[in-house]
Amino acid sequence: MTKFIVVVGGVISGVGKGVATASIGRIMQDYGFSVTAIKIDPYINCDAGTMRPTEHGEVWVTDDGGETDQDLGTYERFLGISIPKSNNITTGQVYKEVIEKERRGTYLGHTVQFIPHITDEIKNRILTASNGFDIALVEIGGTVGDYENTAFLFALRALENTIGKDNICYILVTYLPIPSHIEEMKTKPTQLSVKLLRENGIQPDLILCRGKQALDDIRKNKIEQYANVKSDYIISMPDVTGRDTVNTTYIIPISLQEEGIGDKINNLLHLSPKKTSKLEEWKQAVHNIINPKDEVNIAMIGKYFDIGTFKLADSYISVNEALKHACSKHSLRLNLHWIDSKQLEQKNFNIKESFKDIDGVVIPGGFGGSGVEGKINAIRFCRENNIPFLGLCYGLQLAVIEFSRNVCSLTTANTSEIDPETLYPVIDILPEQKAIESKGGTMRLGAYLALLKEDSRVFKLYGIDKVYERHRHRYEVNPDFHEILQKHGMIFSGMSPDGKLVEFIELPDHKFFIATQSHPEFKSSLLKPAALFDGFIKACKE
Ligand code: GLN
Repeated sequence: MTKFIVVVGGVISGVGKGVATASIGRIMQDYGFSVTAIKIDPYINCDAGTMRPTEHGEVWVTDDGGETDQDLGTYERFLGISIPKSNNITTGQVYKEVIEKERRGTYLGHTVQFIPHITDEIKNRILTASNGFDIALVEIGGTVGDYENTAFLFALRALENTIGKDNICYILVTYLPIPSHIEEMKTKPTQLSVKLLRENGIQPDLILCRGKQALDDIRKNKIEQYANVKSDYIISMPDVTGRDTVNTTYIIPISLQEEGIGDKINNLLHLSPKKTSKLEEWKQAVHNIINPKDEVNIAMIGKYFDIGTFKLADSYISVNEALKHACSKHSLRLNLHWIDSKQLEQKNFNIKESFKDIDGVVIPGGFGGSGVEGKINAIRFCRENNIPFLGLCYGLQLAVIEFSRNVCSLTTANTSEIDPETLYPVIDILPEQKAIESKGGTMRLGAYLALLKEDSRVFKLYGIDKVYERHRHRYEVNPDFHEILQKHGMIFSGMSPDGKLVEFIELPDHKFFIATQSHPEFKSSLLKPAALFDGFIKACKE
């Protein structure tokens, strides 16, 4: 029987519920349990694919082609497992399914209602996603007082009724603010969150208290009395900054386990661990992040960086994390330099000067024309100056454009995404994609097989000749130009099984010039860095 660990938020969102959920999952894995994680997003979008990255952070792509909330990415990076798209449940999906069933006559004769039809649909989705696992974590997005969460909380209570309280526990992640004018940590918002959760029929079993500082005993006791949760089960989870010189969320499983959270959950769920949890491998990887032997300077060239007066690091979170995983493996501090691609288009931009301390350049995925010429300038600089370059999806397409223009003399080469009239559409849309009009789930999505060229550098990095990497794009290297590109020295180191689509490219006689049409960052985890990132960081260090 699967045991459920439900994680809900109180006070404010964005305090690290996803990381807390993933960290608890990691700890439970360490006891020998098989673990999966489910994310509930109360928005009406069917998936995250139609949302702007500056609005909701990066879109995560699953092996089975889902475009989901980025929390699934956090789970995969911590748990090292592939999580299917059905583990991201949204209000939109639930209502769509219920309405479609109603139209098909599934409920014929009945009045279709919020309770039980919507709530049953949610419950069934949770049960299906958790089937076969020892433990399923269920994280509910937003906070407990949100109107739109009502159905999900109701469904979880219904689930508890079906499986029994011994098989489900509730963790409330709250935030304890320290208003600057009084410099005192306040527990009231946490008390109110507990009250709101109770109004939904749920008593928290464990409270994780996020805050700038650790919780003291006085406040712990206050929460204990108010929430009726034993003080042992009130766990402090202060910001990671300040604890060590390097700020890393990967330390959270270690600090939560120092508080004994794993044993407390085992008690709550009557679980007997299959082995003792030492988190050894994890501790080593975190040690390498916190005490690096050396450092690398990587330039990430993208857009989406600014929203209002804030920079949004989350738009490229998977790439950032994949770089961190590789750096942990090589015990390097990652100094990430974010360069806005539009800057690189300015006439007075001195690329030589700006890149003088840069060990390697990453061009991540992207869409549309803005900043593209800047990215192409950066790629040219890397190619001509033997600077390690890693291109991801759009990064490959732009590397092909740069090479076509400056090496193959197709001076006006472009992608038809930007210039539909170009004489040399070296990157073009596939004929089968042209007919699609609706947005959402219509790109080449999910894991695809690529066959690697035996003597290529990419093959050496992967160590195998068949690889599955995840995709999210519409355009491809145009087969009409394969010959000219190869004739001028570009190596297609990985192709689709039918030999039509270019999946990996590389340039010989270069320190590291590799790009892929896929997004290998989606398969990188702390304990298993993605092969291309691993090789790239190694080359940067050399
Ligand atoms: N805009 C490009 C395409 O749709 C690349 C997409 C990406 O980088 N994910 O093909």
